[in-house]
Amino acid sequence: MKHRQHRTHPTSDGRPLTAVGTRPVPRWLARRVLLLNSTYEPLTALPARRAVVLLVCDKAEIVHEDPEGSLIRSVDCVVQVPSVIRLRTFVHVPYRARIPMTRTALMHRDRFRCAYCGGKAETIDHVIPRSRGGEHSWENCVACCAPCNHSKADRLLSELGWTLGAALVPPKGRHWRLLASISEPDPTWLQYLGEGAA
Ligand SMILES: [Zn+2]
Repeated sequence: MKHRQHRTHPTSDGRPLTAVGTRPVPRWLARRVLLLNSTYEPLTALPARRAVVLLVCDKAEIVHEDPEGSLIRSVDCVVQVPSVIRLRTFVHVPYRARIPMTRTALMHRDRFRCAYCGGKAETIDHVIPRSRGGEHSWENCVACCAPCNHSKADRLLSELGWTLGAALVPPKGRHWRLLASISEPDPTWLQYLGEGAA
């Protein structure tokens, strides 16, 4: 992802948005805002400036304020960067069957626990090792602690006498797509992300 450090950003009608207040500009540039569909279905995490453009253009409304949010001024109004916004009109999002597997999403699926010993997971393990043809997929990856990962090395579970408690399946639901796309969700978003997000 590219980081742009300009101090002003044009709105859709060409007028600049300017950060005001005491905070330095990069703070609000780095902030992300959860975007919900008009049905409250979570869609994506937007950069703050894009969220503010949607608000200024009246395409979205604020769902969850952020009292700590930075103030951004356009020509005729001042907007405090919120935590969660909602589109005023429904946007159809094409259904994609498969959630991309990322480290963050896998850790959430396995609840940050090692699949072999139940300890705190720190890494990803390929159940069938990649060196033996195992895929990098939801069905072949688990959250794993460093000691188990180290002692398993490139062996199969059958060679170790280890077992897995549950079948490995991809998670289902839009909030998983969002979890797969962001590394650290804002805690205030969790109530909007639905079951399985916390
Ligand atoms: Zn372990």
